[in-house]
Amino acid sequence: MKPEQAKIPQATAKRLPLYYRFLENLHASGKQRVSSTELSEAVKVDSATIRRDFSYFGALGKKGYGYNVNYLLSFFRETLDQNELTKVILVGVGNLGTAFLHYNFSKNNNTQIEMAFDVDDKKIGTEVGGVQIYNLDDLENILDPEVTVAILTVPSQAAQKIADRLVDAGIKGILNFTPARLSVPDSVRVHHIDLSVELQALVYFLKHYPL
Ligand code: ATP
Repeated sequence: MKPEQAKIPQATAKRLPLYYRFLENLHASGKQRVSSTELSEAVKVDSATIRRDFSYFGALGKKGYGYNVNYLLSFFRETLDQNELTKVILVGVGNLGTAFLHYNFSKNNNTQIEMAFDVDDKKIGTEVGGVQIYNLDDLENILDPEVTVAILTVPSQAAQKIADRLVDAGIKGILNFTPARLSVPDSVRVHHIDLSVELQALVYFLKHYPL
């Protein structure tokens, strides 16, 4: 995100990609404007929060008109760096890593996995989803200095060691899909997504907090 938008609260910033994806779909279907109520129903965020979020970046909806889709889209593109390609690496080409390489985020935005790393000789030197898999031993030598984000899909016992190496190699953001809780310096951001915990939480909520 651009430095001049640094004052947007983090909770708002986290919702921007959600808004962006929905607005892109609206735009593709030829819609020119959208009300906060429509947006709210689509992205499941209450409309007061949407109005407050949008007010941070000067998008003030007009009563009876709503928001201009094109204006919002160009703002989001700029803010989310959608005009630039953000290159990412992935470490651990197992089942989950392989799925990410095939998916490769290309449908939704301009984030792309550029290289993948593994320690398995059978995988090193092959390509998955058009992405080359390299030996993790070569990480420090071949990492593109522009790359600051890594996706971690290795076994949890290997995660911390690899995270340390990623940080030393200049990685500033790690999307951690392993159950391991990583220790990193304050200058590095880790977003942790434990899919089994999420699934268990959903099942628990369904059972104990029926809607
Ligand atoms: P698979 O069936 O391919 O083994 P998996 O998702 O069940 O997939 P995991 O044991 O979670 O396998 O390992 C994920 C991937 O991480 C594998 O490709 C494995 O070779 C790789 N891996 C294991 N240890 C390391 C490590 N220390 N550094 C990098 N990659 C590793």
